Amino acid sequence: MSSSALQIVWVYPDLLSTYGDRGNMLILAHRARARGIPVQTHEIHVNEALPEGDIYLMGGGEDGPQALAAERLLADRGLHRAVDRRAVVFAVCAGYQLLGSSFFAKGAKFGGLDLIDISSDRGETRAVGELGGEVDPALGLPTLSGFENHGGRTHLGPGVKPLATVKTGIGNDGRTEGAWAGTVLGTYCHGPALSRNPALADLLLRWATGEETLSDMDDTWPSRLRKERLTATGLA
Ligand code: GLN
Repeated sequence: MSSSALQIVWVYPDLLSTYGDRGNMLILAHRARARGIPVQTHEIHVNEALPEGDIYLMGGGEDGPQALAAERLLADRGLHRAVDRRAVVFAVCAGYQLLGSSFFAKGAKFGGLDLIDISSDRGETRAVGELGGEVDPALGLPTLSGFENHGGRTHLGPGVKPLATVKTGIGNDGRTEGAWAGTVLGTYCHGPALSRNPALADLLLRWATGEETLSDMDDTWPSRLRKERLTATGLA
């Protein structure tokens, strides 16, 4: 897969792709091409080996598919090699939980990929609804906005920073939402996340390309969506 185009790898669309999370791949490709950056996208199913890429995406999943994805990714090691090369990883919900040391699914504890310093267990209630918060100032992003639906709760170790402070919803534990370390970033936000947070999409593109800034593009529709959702959740 050697090419000058930006290689975006969607990890296991057959297991990890709830609530329109595939949109994150489409949005990244669209926003890169709008800036003249050539892109190739790759949808890698569970029976395929992960290729070398620049950005890896994982979405949400139900408990069974999530446990199977962990087993296959631990055997494949392609995501571990990607993180060692400082490729970008953007993971949502089940995909986010998978990045840590452990998670719960189907009433049992499973080992995760141990790529970032988080672990997940089960909450007393399911977290369902709008999720929003103020992003870590180090990332320089506006208010985070998304939709969450998960039973897990995530605990952050000293090796990661929270993506955001929760203003509405639950996220990790009702106080913080998501986590990031280096160029690996996880969130509970569906929506898909990058349609509601185009500046986050651009951050991932900047990490992947090494560009400090990206040219402006027409953000009329994402701006309308953000305004509508942030107003509805009292975060506008
Ligand atoms: N199965 C996980 C949980 O319920 C993740 C759910 C999801 O990805 N939406 O916590």
